[in-house]
Amino acid sequence: CGIVGYIGHREAYPIIIKGLQRLEYRGYDSAGIALYDGNAIKLSKTKGKVSDLKNKIENEISTDGTLGIGHTRWATHGVPNDVNSHPHYSNSGDLVIIHNGIIENYDSLKKELIKRGYTFHSDTDTEVLVNLIEEVQKNDNLKLGKAVQVALNQVVGAYAIAVFDKNKPNEIVVAKLGSPLAIGIGDDEFFIASDASPFIEYTKNAIYLEDEEMAIIRRGKKIKVRKIKNDVLVDPYVQELQL
Ligand code: GLU
Repeated sequence: CGIVGYIGHREAYPIIIKGLQRLEYRGYDSAGIALYDGNAIKLSKTKGKVSDLKNKIENEISTDGTLGIGHTRWATHGVPNDVNSHPHYSNSGDLVIIHNGIIENYDSLKKELIKRGYTFHSDTDTEVLVNLIEEVQKNDNLKLGKAVQVALNQVVGAYAIAVFDKNKPNEIVVAKLGSPLAIGIGDDEFFIASDASPFIEYTKNAIYLEDEEMAIIRRGKKIKVRKIKNDVLVDPYVQELQL
């Protein structure tokens, strides 16, 4: 399984589809992509190979947008099918998430969210997480990064996630515990991936998030890394990748 993301000045789609192909060695049963051009979110996902996704996308959606996230899934909760594939939307349709890992307490969180009126379209633990983020964001009127942090502090499990908000076209929030997550730092552009192979051709500078760290990645801004638990800002170590 793997995750890829991009925010910058280039078209995200070719970077993400190629990145997913480079992560195929990690194993997966489904794949999906969400692209955002500031107007509409374009999302396509399918059971099967990245090549199947590519065919589907090129028939189904327009691929423009300089923000995007992509996922290869290794199903843990819910069978491999199109609906359970990532990305997943929140109920409002504003938040979009990709996730590698397992939310162990998804069942109790899901019951609570259902009580609060949320509906679920997939059988995944991941759809619980994206709606929990939405609930926290709405209830406490929080910024996306803060909402992700508060939600993750209620989660037991493992994750590498990337999430964006339709109302925030210049931002992707990522977080890691257990599953790997690297961030490539370019010139006014950022790459996200499970390992550096999707972005090594674009930049040699990378941050490997530590467990229990999250990062707020904004177009044209300096990246902000903090501890999920105690909110302490971290000065991330930017590593120079060797070919
Ligand atoms: N637990 C999630 C699911 O079953 C993510 C699986 C993965 O790591 O790809 O959808």
